[in-house]
Parts: sequence; structure tokens; C-alpha cells
Amino acid sequence: MSKQIETVAIIGGGPSGAMLGALLAKHGYKAAIFHTDKRPPLIVGESLLPAVIPYLRKLGIEDEIKSFSIYKPGATVCLNLNEVISASFAFADGRLPDYAYNTPRDLFDQSVLNAARSAGATIFNFSAKLEKADAPDTVKLSRETLDKAGGFFGNGPDLIVDASGRLRLISRLLDTPFKEGGRHDVALFAHLSDVMMNDVGHIHLDLLTKGWSWRIPLPGRVSLGVVINPEHLKQYGNGIEEQFDGYVREEPSLRAYSKSATRISPVVKYNNYQIIPERMHGPGWAMVGDSAGFVDPVFSSGLYLGMKGASELFKAICDATNRGMLRYEQGRHVELKKWQGVMEDSSICIARGRSTRIIRSERRWRSASASALQGSSPVKRWTTAST
Ligand SMILES: Cc1cc2nc3c(=O)[nH]c(=O)nc-3n(C[C@H](O)[C@H](O)[C@H](O)COP(=O)(O)OP(=O)(O)OC[C@H]3O[C@@H](n4cnc5c(N)ncnc54)[C@H](O)[C@@H]3O)c2cc1C
Repeated sequence: MSKQIETVAIIGGGPSGAMLGALLAKHGYKAAIFHTDKRPPLIVGESLLPAVIPYLRKLGIEDEIKSFSIYKPGATVCLNLNEVISASFAFADGRLPDYAYNTPRDLFDQSVLNAARSAGATIFNFSAKLEKADAPDTVKLSRETLDKAGGFFGNGPDLIVDASGRLRLISRLLDTPFKEGGRHDVALFAHLSDVMMNDVGHIHLDLLTKGWSWRIPLPGRVSLGVVINPEHLKQYGNGIEEQFDGYVREEPSLRAYSKSATRISPVVKYNNYQIIPERMHGPGWAMVGDSAGFVDPVFSSGLYLGMKGASELFKAICDATNRGMLRYEQGRHVELKKWQGVMEDSSICIARGRSTRIIRSERRWRSASASALQGSSPVKRWTTAST
């Protein structure tokens, strides 16, 4: 890529696509985001890292996010009902905020998309269709999509960005190579009222006899998700509601945390896997967010990686050289690899339930976050307490 880019089509209006659209529009690019509201009733990814806050500030939406979210001062890992490790985000030496938020994703995503619109990005509320183009390794918007966009792109945009999340539209279309991780769990999650929490505002990660779960406090409710090998769920019934309710009832710690709880939403299922594409850009196209790599949700890194990736891709687009795109891709690979290391450590600790492993995993998490954020350290101290 060496031609100056003027028009950019972004496929997907999730946080990564919307962040990129906002940055491009603000800097005078002609950017449009294709966005469809066809999403599950609950969207997974409700726990933010402190590292996301600078991006919310950049978009000017932190106060809005704060108004519908829960203040999050740290994280709690429950090895079992008696062994609890609490980590605070304090003492970040001013280089990182010492807090984050737990946020309803529908509202969060809407705020980021509104920020893109306010910055001047055009939002098309329909699904974009991509096709292979004539030249090898290239893609184009379908004629129908271009027509529906009312001539916005003329014969086509200078750059197409795949921000379609785990649909990975360009990867699938061009059959680009990727590395897959070993885990293939499923995540079932729902919102419940009156779930017990150990620490106010913290995300809670619970080691279970099979797999792990999250408890994320949201206004008036708690998001409870179990991440588990699907084989273990079959004994609880066929449907995801039966499986979720049955598992929460039978698993000792979840039973204790939810003894007064009521499920107040449908259950939603996500497949949990790791995929890192070998290539994140090509002639006239690039990928950002989950479509440019997904490692694992255990340490809430997804939105941070997506928003940071959008910010880095924006720089590469401004650079308008192949070198800029290569730098973008290399940077993403380095970062994804670091987080993958954190995930691998944590998988071992989940499998073995060993607190020493958790401490080691925490150190790597700290190092991954720190290097990503110019040397700051979000967690200074871990304390062990009994409930
Ligand atoms: C079980 C689980 C738990 C997680 N928990 C967390 C967490 O606590 N914290 C965290 O930070 N992350 C978490 N994540 C990850 C997080 O959800 C993602 O990293 C994040 O949503 C990625 O944002 P994105 O914008 O790249 O993609 P998405 O949020 O998936 O957005 C992509 C958008 O593109 C749209 N789209 C797709 N195709 C088209 C098309 N053809 N035309 C128009 N629009 C299209 C989709 O409808 C969607 O709106 C979790 C993930 C999983 C699986």
C-alpha cells in the first residue's frame, strides 16, 4: 500500500470499528461504518481494563460510560469458597487510571458508535457484503452494498477494514492462514439479580470444579458466565437455559453465590477459542479488533486490544505505506502473544487450582498491560483473604 488513502469502509460498528471510524473522521478521512443491530440480547465483554480509559477519554465519552456503568476498582479471584485473592488497580503511579468500569455492552457500544457519528463518520445501518475481487488477495464491496450506500464510495473505497468481530469476514473470504489455540470451551452467560459478591465493584473470577466463571457487577444486576468444556454441560439438559441453570445449581461455589439469586435475562452462548491470523492486512484491506485476533476472555483484554488496535491502525492509515501496515501487524502480533502467555498461565492455574500459578499469571498480566501502556503497572499488590 503506497497510495494516499481518502475513503475507508469499515465493516462492523462494534467498539473497534467505531473507534477507528471516529479517529478517521476526526482527521478528515471520508469514513463510513456498516453496522447492523442484529446482535444477541446480551453482548459479552462487560468488564473493562484501566487501559481502556485513555481511549474513552480520547473519544470524549468517559462521563457518559460512567453514567450507566459500575465503578471497578479491581479484580477478585476465588480459588474456592475460602481462598480469595483480591487485587486493586491502585498505585499505578499516575501512568494508568487506578480504576475501570463494568459496563452493559449494548449501551457501551452505542456510546462509541455515537462518538464516531459525532466525529463525522457516516453510519450505514445495514449489513455490508464483501466479495473476492479479480486481483489475487483482494476484496471488494458487492455492487448491491455500494448501491445501498448511495454512491458514498463511488466505485469502491480506498481501504476496506474488517471490524466484523469473530465473524472474521476477510479471513474467511480469502482463506488467510491463522494459528489456533488449544482450548474450545463454551461460555454461557446471563444476568441475575441478588448474586453474592466478595468485593464491591470488582470483577470476580471463580475457579470451578469444571472450568471457571465470571461475576461482573452491573447496575441492578450481576452478569454471571460459566466457561466450560461443552461435554460437561450435556448432563444438565439439551437447551442452554437448562444447562446454565442446572450447572449454577449444582456447582458448589456458584450455588453458594447465587442462593438468593434470580435469573432475569435469557442465557446467551458464545464459543470460546483462540485465533490469531498470520496476516492482518493486504492490498486495499486490513483487519482490526477481534477479526485481527482473539485470545481468551479470562483477563478482560478484548476491548482494550480492539481499541488499541484501532488506534494503531489509524496511525498506519495516516502513514499510507506498506511499512506502516507491517508495523501495525507486527505490533498486534507482539501484543496478542503477550496476552496469550497470560492466558496459558491462567489455563494451567484453572486446571490445577494453584495459587502460586495465579500469582505468576498475575505477574505476566501486569507485564502485558504494562508494556502495552508505556510501562505502567495496573496491579501493585495482591492480598489473600478468607471469606
Ligand atoms: C466469553 C467471552 C467473554 C468476554 N469478556 C470480555 C470482557 O469481560 N472484557 C473485554 O474487554 N472483552 C471481553 N470479551 C471480548 C470482547 O467481547 C471482544 O473483544 C470485543 O467485543 C471486540 O470488539 P470488536 O469491535 O472487535 O467486535 P464486536 O464487538 O464483535 O463487533 C463486531 C460488529 O460487527 C458487526 N458486523 C459483522 N459483520 C457485519 C457486516 N457484514 N456488516 C455490518 N456489520 C457487521 C457485528 O454485528 C458486530 O456489531 C469476551 C469475549 C468472550 C467470547
